[in-house]
Order: sequence, then C-alpha cells, then structure tokens
Amino acid sequence: MILNTQKFLLKNLKNTRKLLNIRLLSTVGDEKYKGNYDVIIAGGGMVGCTLACAMAKNPLLSSLKVLLLEGSPDKKFELKPEYSNRVVALSQNTKLLMSSINVWQHVENMRLQPVRHMQVWDACSDAMISFSSSEILDDDVAYIVENDVLLHAVNTELNKTNNKNLDIVYGAKIDSYKLPTSTDRELKSLVKLANGDAYSCQLLIGADGANSAVRRAMGVQYVSWNYKQMGVVATLHLAEETENTTAWQRWLPTGPVALLPLDSKRSSLVWSTWEENAKELLKLPEEQFVDALNDALWKQYPRSSAVDACMSWVGGCLRGAGLADGAARQLPPSVRGIAPASRAAFPLGFGHSTRYVAPGVALVGDAAHRVHPLAGQGVNLGFGDIKELTELLADTVYTGFDITHPDWMRRYESERQKHNVPTQLAIEALHRLYTVDFPPVVLLRSIGVQVTNALQPIKKFVMAHAAT
Ligand SMILES: Cc1cc2nc3c(=O)[nH]c(=O)nc-3n(C[C@H](O)[C@H](O)[C@H](O)COP(=O)(O)OP(=O)(O)OC[C@H]3O[C@@H](n4cnc5c(N)ncnc54)[C@H](O)[C@@H]3O)c2cc1C
Repeated sequence: MILNTQKFLLKNLKNTRKLLNIRLLSTVGDEKYKGNYDVIIAGGGMVGCTLACAMAKNPLLSSLKVLLLEGSPDKKFELKPEYSNRVVALSQNTKLLMSSINVWQHVENMRLQPVRHMQVWDACSDAMISFSSSEILDDDVAYIVENDVLLHAVNTELNKTNNKNLDIVYGAKIDSYKLPTSTDRELKSLVKLANGDAYSCQLLIGADGANSAVRRAMGVQYVSWNYKQMGVVATLHLAEETENTTAWQRWLPTGPVALLPLDSKRSSLVWSTWEENAKELLKLPEEQFVDALNDALWKQYPRSSAVDACMSWVGGCLRGAGLADGAARQLPPSVRGIAPASRAAFPLGFGHSTRYVAPGVALVGDAAHRVHPLAGQGVNLGFGDIKELTELLADTVYTGFDITHPDWMRRYESERQKHNVPTQLAIEALHRLYTVDFPPVVLLRSIGVQVTNALQPIKKFVMAHAAT
C-alpha cells in the first residue's frame, strides 16, 4: 500500500517536473537553462552540506531530486598535522544528528577533542561557573572539531551514499533568484548563476550564510546589527602538556577570551574584542601577542571593593546553605606560542530573520539566525534546523502532501524559532551584561552566575538547552 502510494507520488512528481520545465524554459528564454529539481540547496557550507547528506540518507527523501550549489571551488582536503584555526564546539545533539547520518565516525577517524569540563569566569569579580560532564550530563560537555574536518566528514558520507538523485555543483556562484509569489500556486523558484546557468526547483532552501541572498529575495524582515567586535582566532601552543579537556572562557570588559582544547598541548583561541583592538592584535609580533593573551587570561583587572564585599557575603551564604560557592576554581593554562600564520579575525554580528519560510522557500543555519560566538551555539542552531526540517519534510512526503505544503513549512518555522529566538536573546543578554564594568551591573551578573553555579537544577537546565 505504502509502496503503491510512493510510486504514484513519484510518477506525479515526474509529470510535474516535465510540465514545469516547459513553462520555465519559456520564462528563462535562455539556452543555459540546466533543468528542474525538487529541491535546490543554495550554499554548501557546514549546514547546507549536512542538509544534503541528511536528505540523501533519509529513505523518504532520497527519491527527491536535489541540487546543492556552492559558490567556492571543490577543495581537496588533506588532514595535516597542524590544526586549522577555524573550529567549532559541537553539542551533544549535533553529535546525535551526525551519528544518525554516519558522519560522526568519519570525524572520530580524523580528529576531535572532547570537552569534559568548562570554566567561565569574570575578570571584574570572583564570579565563576563551571560545567563538568560527570556532574551534569554523564557525557562530554561538547566536542571541538575543525570546520574543515566536519565538512570533509559530511562530504565523505555524502559521496558514499552514491545517491543518483543528488547533484552537487561547486564554483556555482548564484547571481539571482526569482521566487514564486504567494498567489502563484505552482511555487517554482528560478536560480540563476553568475555564469548564466539557470535551474528551477519546487523547494528552495537558503543555506547561504549570514549575508543570505535567498533571505533578501524572500523580502523578509531581518533584524541585525554589527557588534563592532571581531573574533580573533589562532592555534595556541600551551606552556604545559596536560590531558587538556577543559574549555576556558574569561569575560573581559572588552569581550570574552576563550581557549578550546585541541590536544594535550594545543588549544584554539576565540578572542572577541573591539574591532580596533582586534586589528592591533593581528599586527603584533608573535611574542607580544602571546604576552597580551596571557595578560587577558591572567591579569588582575580593576575591581570594585563593594562588589568584592557583596560577593564574599553571597559566597558565605551559599556555603552556609551547603552549596558550592565557586571557590573550587582551576587555574587556566599559560600560552607559550602560536602556530605560524594561524592568526585571523572575523567580524561578529547578530541577525534574526523574522520569517524562516515563504511560499516554496525555507532558510536554515546562519541565513536565518546569527549569534555572537561567546556561547559556541551558531552552527549547532543550524544543525537543529536540519533535524527539524528533514523530519517534517519526510512526514510530509510520507503523507503524500506536496513538498512545499505550507503546513510543514509553518511548523518548521515555529518549532525552530521557539528554540532559536530565546537562545539568541540569552546570548545577546550575556553579551550586553558582560561588556560593561559598571559596578552595579558587575554585581548583578556576578550574583546571577554564582547562584546558578551553586544550584545544580538550574545548571542542568542551562546545559540541556545548550545541548539541543
Ligand atoms: C570566530 C567564530 C567562532 C565560532 N565558533 C562557533 C562554535 O564554537 N560553535 C558553533 O556552533 N558555532 C560557532 N561559530 C558560528 C559558525 O561558524 C556558523 O554558525 C556557521 O559557520 C554557519 O554555517 P552555515 O553553513 O549556515 O553558513 P556559512 O558557513 O556562512 O556557509 C554558507 C555557504 O554558502 C555559500 N554561499 C554564500 N553565498 C553564495 C552564493 N551567492 N552562491 C553560492 N554559494 C554561496 C558560501 O560559499 C558558504 O559555503 C563561530 C563563528 C565565528 C565567526
């Protein structure tokens, strides 16, 4: 019965494709029209590639004709002994998604570093919060993976699926989109490349990053701002060899400085700071840069004695109630040097698309939402989008509805915004709270952090939300 329904649906799909090819050829009026697809994914970054892989591996979606268009060329990947300076902290839920599509095993076969402990502390007070895999999740807190390694792992699995319905075009710089209007019930999008090639599709998915042209073509409202900050990244050589499974983050009045573990003697730096400062840091000779970084991790910043007195009173109350007062802090590592040519800086911004969907179009990843890297959530939110989108789309195909049916698209948008928007707001609140050193604000945030650290249920809630 199910097989018959699927055959019927496929036949219908093929007929619709033929019909549309004829119509679109007449609208394109161009001999470079390359064909029609059920789904076009615009952008083959970490999110777009993972979406293509998840669709190719899903028995209900693998029969859809999918085209992945990526603007950059197909680069040969080689796992070098030096680490890349671009890494991401991946959550448990991302690991689950990657395991479900067999990608995680490829990451493990290359390299990753588990984070088993995380310590976050304030430069302007004694406030500190720590998360341990043993006390919270009974599993690793996160995993540090190089962007290139993850992308290669996804591509390895994508090639293994050998799905004849999936086409990938690299070096495909998309120039423009013609999207269907809400009154146009045929819902066909036309995608034109800079080289003149054109494709059409029923469902267009924008995975083209924070400057998404798909989002612009949708004409949706996009709330965004530039933090006037940059994330300075580098691969660091640590002064001492240790197990190195702790992620460290110190909040400075200029922004957070974070060390993410790579192996026993190396960590990856993400140092968020004001643009001018970031540019200065990039220009410094290596030794001076290392000194500045060690200062950022260790230096005593001016403190308010009133804040210190209040915090010591709060600590006393917590101890009196038999709760942790944050005294069990560990000392961060010292940095000995940086890997040659590993310093770089990336602009940081906030972005929220008020709509993730329009007729026949959906946004995923940074195209829909952009956050400050202070909580290591950006791409994890994108992978959450993929999980939701593929599940809802598979249900839609199973029940025989059109792949652009507004019900599943609306549900995708509302489910993801329910998760993404509060996460974005929480990250934004942290950013605002921590880029000031006005004593009452320092006191407020310090008490919040210290009490959260002492109360296991709140800590578990924070970790559970970050993992999803
Ligand atoms: C310093 C820093 C540290 C970070 N750390 C973390 C972290 O620890 N954890 C975390 O979860 N996130 C982190 N992030 C965020 C994370 O890097 C992003 O969320 C993620 O890269 C978004 O992936 P994406 O695939 O949605 O977009 P992108 O990576 O921007 O990919 C978009 C793709 O679309 C392609 N494209 C764009 N326009 C076109 C076009 N016109 N034609 C064809 N192709 C096109 C691009 O070539 C690109 O490949 C960090 C970000 C920064 C800057």
